[in-house]
Amino acid sequence: MRFDISKIKNTLDSQINLNFDITLEDDDNSEIYFTEPVHVNAVITSTEEGYDIDGFMDVSLDATCYRCLRPFHYHDIIELHDNINNYEEESGEKVFFNGGNQVYLDDLIRTNLLLSLPARYLCDEACRGICPDCGTNLNDSNCSCSSEPIDPRLEVLKKFLK
Ligand SMILES: [Zn+2]
Ligand SMILES: [Zn+2]
Repeated sequence: MRFDISKIKNTLDSQINLNFDITLEDDDNSEIYFTEPVHVNAVITSTEEGYDIDGFMDVSLDATCYRCLRPFHYHDIIELHDNINNYEEESGEKVFFNGGNQVYLDDLIRTNLLLSLPARYLCDEACRGICPDCGTNLNDSNCSCSSEPIDPRLEVLKKFLK
């Protein structure tokens, strides 16, 4: 997705507000499956060095809980702070088009998102996981296995239940 930045190109500290939806490819390496476009609300500011981009990314995706292995819907609003010039140098991607009058933000958004999203997804802080012996999802029901829970945080809960 390209945006016209010609209005702020020659005026220091001038800004453009951006409010857009961007459809990102799923990331098979990270097992990230975007269920809807990422909504971006950001401001581009012209600086001495080029442009800053600051705002938020509203992301929804299908994730799998690492503890109970259940699929769930993950939603978060992630802050975005980047420098478009540095990005161009670091990634080697072409960011500016039409003699610097347009900027292409797809890769910048994607990279920022992938760096900010959690490495592991947890459906709920209180997720009880699955029983390692019988495979029962302990969020749904208890099982009669006597094995100790793997997660130390569950020990607290266990004492509490006695
Ligand atoms: Zn879970
Ligand atoms: Zn069990």
